[in-house]
Amino acid sequence: MRAAIAVLLLLVIGVAAAMYLAELGGTVQIQVGDAWIGTSFPIALLLLALGFLVLHGILVAIGALRRLPRRLREKRALRRRADGDAAVTRALIALAAGTAEAARLEVRKARQHLGDTPQTLLLAAEAERLSGREDAAAEAFRTLAEREDARFLGLRGLLRQAMQRGDWEAAQALAREAETIQPGAAWLREERAELALRTHDWREALALSAPETPKPVLALAAAAQEPDATKAAELERQAFQLDKGFAPAAIAHAQRLREGGSPRRARAVLEEAWAAAPHPDLAEAYLVDEPDVLMRVKAVEQLIRRNPEAAESRLLLARIALAAGLTGRARAALDALVASGEADRRAYLLLAELEEAEHGETAEARAAQARWLRQAAAASPEPAWRCAHCGTEQPRWTPVCTSCGTVGQIAWTSPARPAMPAASAA
Ligand SMILES: [Zn+2]
Repeated sequence: MRAAIAVLLLLVIGVAAAMYLAELGGTVQIQVGDAWIGTSFPIALLLLALGFLVLHGILVAIGALRRLPRRLREKRALRRRADGDAAVTRALIALAAGTAEAARLEVRKARQHLGDTPQTLLLAAEAERLSGREDAAAEAFRTLAEREDARFLGLRGLLRQAMQRGDWEAAQALAREAETIQPGAAWLREERAELALRTHDWREALALSAPETPKPVLALAAAAQEPDATKAAELERQAFQLDKGFAPAAIAHAQRLREGGSPRRARAVLEEAWAAAPHPDLAEAYLVDEPDVLMRVKAVEQLIRRNPEAAESRLLLARIALAAGLTGRARAALDALVASGEADRRAYLLLAELEEAEHGETAEARAAQARWLRQAAAASPEPAWRCAHCGTEQPRWTPVCTSCGTVGQIAWTSPARPAMPAASAA
């Protein structure tokens, strides 16, 4: 509304000025030498206005001509950009579909159109990897790593390659470098945990809580690597607290306490561990300071008081009682064990020994012994430290399987019973 009023006002002023000028009349004269041009004042004004218009038109045309090359360049760049983006999309699809050669072709096109951007370099590396050209991929990752804006991407690629070829030293160096750029990145944390497991850096693995690996195992393994006794003791305590049924941790923790002058606390730890999961090594650690055979029986009664009916408890009591000459107690424990159906080979061998201790070298004893030995042969073997991954039996507990290298899979288990012939036939 205001604009309309302004235009209207201008028109009124213009018309008034024109009428005033026509009214005014007058002439304009230009004289150059003898030549003389004369015209009325309104016509001269009109000519002047026309002259301005023509001049303006010429200037605009010149400006447009001068800008033309740049506009053409911009248009070409836009087209290249669009072509490049389309090639990137096609490369992504080819990568997702796993068609390596198509991916490489599209990536090459994308690089022609867009140049070496972080995106095209990353795509190039992935396409090269997909087609098995690890060297070319490494080259692309290195170029990425040299760029300030994409260093992490480059290092990540190089780290993955190093881990794949098992070059743990290079991988660790790359992980450290990547960590400084992107501290606490979730992906990096996983890779570092995996690396720590591979390089058996248990402390680091524990700190990063490596996936699928039991923490007590890592804590105990870290304790064995720890030069500082106080820190090692703390790690052992941590391992025991995390899993009281993990015998090696309990034994290490108890031994540290005993050496530190707390035999009573050491025994309490072993008793707690026995209550959680009885293991023969716990008994051995418990009885280490007790040479007297009768006192050993008393000590065992103390150790097994919370689970006297466990198979290992009965077996232990029978063994120690037999060694002390208490054949009656040994037989009672073994009879109960056989009756419970949990007796393994060790129980029958102990029964054979018991026959000899009870009856001496008699024909009757020999016959009974032979019977127990036959049963022992048929009974399930005793449990052992065994890798849950590959099944290899280990002479003692270790954090890593000596056969397959899996971490944290060695457990105290009975061997799997062979499948029944009928079942396997079916
Ligand atoms: Zn194994």
